[in-house]
Amino acid sequence: MTTEKPNSRRLAYFSMEVGLEAAMPTYSGGLGVLAGDTLRAAADLGVPMVGISLLYKQGFFRQHLDIEGYQSESAYTWDPRQFLEPQDLRVTVRLSGREVRLTAWRYLIEGITGATVPVYFLDADLPENSFEERALTGQLYGGDPLYRLRQEALVGLGGLALLQALGHTEIETYHLNEGHCALLTVGLLADGVADGDPAKATEEEIEAVRRRCVFTTHTPVSAGHDRFHFDLVRQVLDEPLARTIESLPFAADETLNMTYLGLFFSRNANGVARRHGEVAQAMYPGYDVKSITNGVHAASWTSPSMAAMFDREIPDWRTDNAYLRQVLDVQTDHVLEAHSDAKRDLLGEIMRRTGVKLDPSVMTIGFARRAATYKRADMIFSDLDALRTIAREAGPLQFVYAGKAHPHDEPAKALIRRVFEARDQLRDTLHVVYVPEHDMALGKLLCSGVDLWLNNPQKPLEASGTSGMKAALNGVPSLSVLDGWWPEGWVEGVTGWSIGNGEMESNQEDELASLYSKLRYVIVPLFYGSPTGYGRVMRSTIGVNGAYFTAQRMMQQYMRNAYQVPGNK
Ligand SMILES: *Cc1c(COP(=O)(O)O)cnc(C)c1O
Repeated sequence: MTTEKPNSRRLAYFSMEVGLEAAMPTYSGGLGVLAGDTLRAAADLGVPMVGISLLYKQGFFRQHLDIEGYQSESAYTWDPRQFLEPQDLRVTVRLSGREVRLTAWRYLIEGITGATVPVYFLDADLPENSFEERALTGQLYGGDPLYRLRQEALVGLGGLALLQALGHTEIETYHLNEGHCALLTVGLLADGVADGDPAKATEEEIEAVRRRCVFTTHTPVSAGHDRFHFDLVRQVLDEPLARTIESLPFAADETLNMTYLGLFFSRNANGVARRHGEVAQAMYPGYDVKSITNGVHAASWTSPSMAAMFDREIPDWRTDNAYLRQVLDVQTDHVLEAHSDAKRDLLGEIMRRTGVKLDPSVMTIGFARRAATYKRADMIFSDLDALRTIAREAGPLQFVYAGKAHPHDEPAKALIRRVFEARDQLRDTLHVVYVPEHDMALGKLLCSGVDLWLNNPQKPLEASGTSGMKAALNGVPSLSVLDGWWPEGWVEGVTGWSIGNGEMESNQEDELASLYSKLRYVIVPLFYGSPTGYGRVMRSTIGVNGAYFTAQRMMQQYMRNAYQVPGNK
């Protein structure tokens, strides 16, 4: 049952993936987790937002790793009823000349002060649809370009139809979270043109769409930007919409670029960290690209033990995360105790899942994210003797890894195998554990339970990265290359340490030298030589970065810098 009042929502947030629960496989990685955190922050702050996405009945996938690290996959079966309320309504989207019917499921986020944000997951698995159509809301990032384009039409055009069916006809701002949902813009144009043909839209009619749309771009990596040949566009969309797309001034090589579509129809465009805003501006010189740095939903990503400590020492931190700065006045022992509970929980879970018993007194380094090649999961294993020397001379180490490779990404799968190889080669000196099935639950245990968070993407390809922010909330400092959010979060020896210099492009040799030397001469000696000194770094990591890189702060910046309706300033 739908209980919302019509027109009770002013902002609509569209995202191809939304992560709200670890066991609800409607997300694959950082983008979806960020979308869920954004919507949770909106609920906390009482922002009248509604979220739109697709339901994926087979979800992303389950990851299996054999003893050599070969990844295989299986479908993720789940019951939406466990988390979502079915909505008794139908909307239609025309795809390839047929009316595809959609229903929706609702997840109601309740914010800290009781305000709510509904999130709708569109579902095509209805008896009225053909077999092929029913499968369209099956897999996240599965299928061929035709399947993808049809999914993107469902989220963009179906989402717009759903908002209308719910009576949300006075949305002031549509936020396109990445290009996947940008077909929404041509839907808005088609609705707004006087003579019914969007291909004949006037400049004012285009401007009217622009006034209502805000766009966020999330990656400089080319594979993250969908492009569809016009033949495919004509095959999927109705003729007037296809003709509109072909007539847009950025159309090149007979190809629809979803990022350009989003940029063209938005009044405001942002990257996800200051550095990424600069990179994106250089990629799209014809547009004005700014940045709003990502943040994470603090209450969701803080371990139970650290959250209990915050509740005792900083009672209002959940309603206003900025108060976390007051941790700077809390005794370091409180931070160390809360963290050692989180570490115990992590090591217990690793033991349960893998049978490997790690030592809680050993410095533990964590690395968990999608196994994309630019993230260079195996980089620290480039010189195993260097690692052996560090473990022998500075103090013992152990590594915990996690991350899924996309089923078709062979180089990423090879990366996982190389971590397994290093594990075997290092067996005499230190433990390396790769925990399968990285999801939000495991991610939280990892970010909060290790002693150091390692991040070494190839610059400048990390748009933001959010796992280091989750770690910071839990007092876990980062050792990271200066890419993504880290140039903003890095205070040497206070919030963590840098790998290499501030240049825009990576030089792996220099980065490795820097990585090994910081571990050997600075970080590991501090950890073993001065637990209180390390505790002070942990505390300032929370006070300086945990307090700032939150989804609440990000949402407030979107409110001020992006959502604000022109003319209302
Ligand atoms: C936070 C999170 C990510 C994003 O990590 P990055 O640091 O941005 O690579 C990916 N997957 C899961 C499950 C997460 O919780």
